[in-house]
Amino acid sequence: MSSRLPAPVRTRSEALQQRAERFFPGGVNSPVRAFGAVGGGPPFIESAQGAWITDADGNRYIDYFGSWGPMILGHAFPPVVEAIERAARNSASFGASTSAEADLAERITACYPAIEKLRFVSSGTEATMSAIRLARAATRRKIIVKFEGCYHGHSDGLLVKAGSGVATFGIPGSAGVPEEIAALTLALPFNDIPAVEAAFDAHPDQIAAIIVEPIVGNAGCIPPAAGYNPSLHKLYEASARFGGSIPPAEGFLAGLRRIAARHGALLIVDEVMTGFRVGLGGACEMYSLEPDLVTLGKIVGGGLPVGVFGGKRAFMEMLAPLGPVYQAGTLSGNPLAMAAGLATISHLQANAEQIYAQLSASAAAVADGVAQEAFNANVPVGLNRVGSMWTWFFKLGPVTNYEQAAKSDTAAFGHFHRAMLDQGIWLPPSQFEAAFLSTAHGEEEIAATIASARNAFQSMTTA
Ligand SMILES: *Cc1c(COP(=O)(O)O)cnc(C)c1O
Repeated sequence: MSSRLPAPVRTRSEALQQRAERFFPGGVNSPVRAFGAVGGGPPFIESAQGAWITDADGNRYIDYFGSWGPMILGHAFPPVVEAIERAARNSASFGASTSAEADLAERITACYPAIEKLRFVSSGTEATMSAIRLARAATRRKIIVKFEGCYHGHSDGLLVKAGSGVATFGIPGSAGVPEEIAALTLALPFNDIPAVEAAFDAHPDQIAAIIVEPIVGNAGCIPPAAGYNPSLHKLYEASARFGGSIPPAEGFLAGLRRIAARHGALLIVDEVMTGFRVGLGGACEMYSLEPDLVTLGKIVGGGLPVGVFGGKRAFMEMLAPLGPVYQAGTLSGNPLAMAAGLATISHLQANAEQIYAQLSASAAAVADGVAQEAFNANVPVGLNRVGSMWTWFFKLGPVTNYEQAAKSDTAAFGHFHRAMLDQGIWLPPSQFEAAFLSTAHGEEEIAATIASARNAFQSMTTA
């Protein structure tokens, strides 16, 4: 299939990519940036403002990946830029404590009652890796339960059946991870409580923790199965009369909480993507979930490298220098990163009600609008969305786990991605990455996106 749409000129980007390939494997410093899954060379970025990105050839794009999640207030949001500039004048790093660390911690703990104490690190990978070490130390057990298609960073034990780039490139795990380490990770299907029960029965007193993306973003967007809602009882009854099913009494996340507690394992809720994305208290608040440990990243750093792991005091106080679990970082709590995080989180907190309502409404408008265009053009596309994260899956039928997501027509997604990029719409370059928008995305951007999608789907059916 070839697009009928004239592609913009990207000669400078092409030259820059060739140069980058001299230095970096695949020309990139993180694999999905290479656009391998969608074809075509990746544009090089020169700058970005609000909802718009400008590439090295001067082409402009509406941004729906937001640096993979952090840019919830749009690019170069003035209070964030000013905070970073102010902090930089006082030196970029000290390797000693500053008051900004507690300022940001105070705001985070106000949103996450489950976080009694926390540590700042420099990435989501570090946060989940450290949370797992802590869980193993606290339980004196070795096995970790994770879910297929969930991505928790690239530490050895968490790359088993992982999402994001691992799913994009169809890699079952990663070379270089010893079998002995991979054997300590059980990867189960998401939204499948009986599978979790069975794993705990098969490994009594050996499972240290369950780690979960409460709303999956790294296999595309997959929400957790909700529990039975009594206020919808009549609807369920009506649906059951026509062959539908009544949902189980317990939601998926509530089931994980119950099982972990019963077996003395920790529940680690990885909110690196969902934290401050779906609401101030993330998925924990949305689903009334009480985790033992939480990991955060992305938005909490306002675009600078920050991760967080935190939770119950008794566990966190096992960390050095108080306890025997070692964890450290030269740039942990870096002053520029704290400044960017503080400016972002304080803006979100001060305007939470308005911001999250707006984000959700904007995301609904663009996600539904594009899905409607697919329907009109007879292109099979299903939509999953929670707040301002969503995925158009190029298949029909529900997507409730990775196995179903993996049945998507990735070639059709690639065609759609290229056709959108050529019209100035930058979607995440893989079927298995959630799309996001920011507070800077307005009606004009949304209308342009839907119009571009109409052209893209038309080019797919007539090609
Ligand atoms: C992005 C992400 C990570 C990894 O964070 P990095 O900062 O890229 O190391 C971990 N968990 C989830 C849920 C993520 O979305």
